[in-house]
Amino acid sequence: MTYFRPTSLEDALAVLAEPRPAPRRVLCGGTDAYADPGARPPSGGWLDISRLDALHGIAPRDGDLRIGAATTWDAIERCALLPASLREAAHQVGSRQVRVAGSLGGNLCHAAPAADGVPPLLTLDAQVELTSLRGMRRLRLDEFLLGRRRTALAADELLTAVLLPASATAGRTAFLKCANRDGTALAVVSAAVRLRWSESGVVSQAAVAVGAASEVPVRLRALEQGLEGARPDALSRLIRESPLPELAPIDDVRGSAGLRRHLARIAVERACARCMKEAGDGASA
Ligand SMILES: Cc1cc2nc3c(=O)[nH]c(=O)nc-3n(C[C@H](O)[C@H](O)[C@H](O)COP(=O)(O)OP(=O)(O)OC[C@H]3O[C@@H](n4cnc5c(N)ncnc54)[C@H](O)[C@@H]3O)c2cc1C
Repeated sequence: MTYFRPTSLEDALAVLAEPRPAPRRVLCGGTDAYADPGARPPSGGWLDISRLDALHGIAPRDGDLRIGAATTWDAIERCALLPASLREAAHQVGSRQVRVAGSLGGNLCHAAPAADGVPPLLTLDAQVELTSLRGMRRLRLDEFLLGRRRTALAADELLTAVLLPASATAGRTAFLKCANRDGTALAVVSAAVRLRWSESGVVSQAAVAVGAASEVPVRLRALEQGLEGARPDALSRLIRESPLPELAPIDDVRGSAGLRRHLARIAVERACARCMKEAGDGASA
């Protein structure tokens, strides 16, 4: 087995572009890859991208907020530039040991149904930047995530950054995770919400996403349409009455499909309530 840890993006991309009988396996924080026996690299070995400066840091660029793919959860949690929902999700990923090593890019590329980073990013209309020696392309996050553990990443590409359009970060945001115990636990269901209000007090824009209740986390477009134009005191009823048609929960060791559907409504309702309370308290977004 070989272990290659380049310090330049070009070197890393050149390795991925090499025609080889067995591909290199990309590794960032290793918190998913090392824990997954099925993910052990074949003879191609590991390509460790954690030392690539180009993949680190959070900064405004060309009208977007750019988050390097190797940025750790710990750095995201501490970054005041980022919306509350993403920072709350970062705070709830695993234990501190996992958060100082695990990266946002690794979370998205692993594409688990319960990935905590995905629901907030969906409500923020996030895009991913994919880079190879052939060039760079951008995809919406919902185009990148094709299904459970399946993404649109090509074999010679790296996920280099996540981009948040400035227009999508306006409003109040919240993230809520339902797990079977406090501390390190994967979500039974998670929910992220972004709400804006008009001068007259009705909801002018609603973005709602739920994780762990379908193959990949999804936006609840039908509910969003129902919430837009509603007064704050009507939100709970609308959420409880919504059939949530985008969800397709399964029964597994963490919870039944019925429990997941029930928790999804509660999580969305509480996330909305938190946004409304903060708006009422005048806290900064
Ligand atoms: C104890 C424990 C608790 C956990 N708790 C949670 C939790 O509560 N919530 C949660 O969402 N996750 C949790 N996880 C999963 C994991 O920590 C996160 O998904 C983390 O963000 C993965 O990032 P990483 O850098 O460690 O990825 P890695 O393990 O390095 O990589 C994961 C996958 O992505 C690929 N990859 C990584 N970066 C890139 C890139 N830039 N471009 C292309 N491919 C790439 C790798 O090839 C691999 O297939 C937990 C894991 C452990 C071990």
